[in-house]
Amino acid sequence: MGLAKIAIIGAGLGGLTCAIALLQRGLKVDVFEAANAIEETGAGLTLGLGAQHVFRALGLKAKVVATACPAGGLPFLHYRSAAVLLGDLDKGDGAPDDGEANIIRHIYRADLQKVLLAEFEKLGGTAHTGKRLKHYSQSTGTASAHFSDGSQASADVLIGADGVRSAARAQMVQDDSPRFTNHVAYRCLVPMERAQKFMGLGRSAIFIGPGRTFNRYTMAKGTVVNLAGLVETNEEVPEGWSIAAPQAEVMRAFGGWHPDVTGLIAEAGDSIKWGLYDRAPLSTWSEGRVTMLGDAAHAMLPFLGMGAAMAIEDGYVLAQMLAQLSDAREAFARYEALRITRTNEVHAASKRQGEITQSIDPDNFALAGAPVNNRAMMEFDPTTGLG
Ligand SMILES: Cc1cc2nc3c(=O)[nH]c(=O)nc-3n(C[C@H](O)[C@H](O)[C@H](O)COP(=O)(O)OP(=O)(O)OC[C@H]3O[C@@H](n4cnc5c(N)ncnc54)[C@H](O)[C@@H]3O)c2cc1C
Repeated sequence: MGLAKIAIIGAGLGGLTCAIALLQRGLKVDVFEAANAIEETGAGLTLGLGAQHVFRALGLKAKVVATACPAGGLPFLHYRSAAVLLGDLDKGDGAPDDGEANIIRHIYRADLQKVLLAEFEKLGGTAHTGKRLKHYSQSTGTASAHFSDGSQASADVLIGADGVRSAARAQMVQDDSPRFTNHVAYRCLVPMERAQKFMGLGRSAIFIGPGRTFNRYTMAKGTVVNLAGLVETNEEVPEGWSIAAPQAEVMRAFGGWHPDVTGLIAEAGDSIKWGLYDRAPLSTWSEGRVTMLGDAAHAMLPFLGMGAAMAIEDGYVLAQMLAQLSDAREAFARYEALRITRTNEVHAASKRQGEITQSIDPDNFALAGAPVNNRAMMEFDPTTGLG
């Protein structure tokens, strides 16, 4: 008998994408989310082509890109002079395009989440909120999730899509925990009407300097500018939306940077301070009838902006394997063969990108090495070759 019922732990972008792909293939899916509501708070995402290929295959691309903005030339700029070190300035006004072109885009996570949730509900998926996985158990033919409220749920297969602090991974992999990468991200949003005067260099720009990166781009139909300042530090803070950073702290971190950077920080008010953690790459993501996807399997530094895209790609590929193969172990083996090399490569390249761009020599105004060309990685189409 084939696989009929799948339990997904975590309603992030990876978990929801996987759920939609499974529902479209006729499998029954329950999603269990620790939070009391499935909602995204404010931050932007670079949406690589791999993720967009997935949404095209799911029939969702037009809806997804309707609010996204073309990423333009994605130039690296010198942190003080704004001299172009790599890429091209793009003077586009940041408005959405018609969505047809195969280009990298920027999107507001909440907009993407909204599209995915609507599709999940339309397809009849069931989401259970307030369900935090504590541990799982397995018996012949069944995997069971045990939640912190004392309840449990059983399915043919259990998928840990529960993020960088995955409870599924904590049980599956011994002596392994999220690794603080000695970086924090300051994250905030500025409405375009206040940001406009600091956007003369185009809709996307990544300012790079010693030990720091400042990335700003338009999203949400060009109405909002997303700011992310990545800073090396020894001060370990958790990830998530809980730690506010006063404006003065962000200003200190980027003191002396180009006026477009400090101007945007001044307009932003307070930010969120988000500790950046990664996970050690693994040679397998599965145990019996349980597997993992996304950050649970391979959380990475955000210097290439590809972590969510990897979760989205994983979700799609895993769903196709589960729909094609009636044996969970076989499906997981094929899924891992298709995904582990790809995600390990992107994981390593993201780290390398941070090392190269943040070790810029401030006197010579030169990069410490050739930055990773992520276009080829971004353009990979995960929906082909799944036969
Ligand atoms: C500063 C920054 C910038 C980034 N920029 C980009 C970018 O531009 N492009 C890009 O592609 N990626 C980017 N990323 C990476 C991206 O945010 C993550 O890779 C992505 O969110 C991972 O998705 P996921 O579905 O695996 O996990 P998550 O989004 O973390 O979702 C996990 C879900 O599981 C739930 N959960 C957790 N534990 C449990 C439990 N025990 N039981 C039940 N539910 C649970 C959580 O509440 C959550 O809803 C960035 C990350 C950071 C920090």
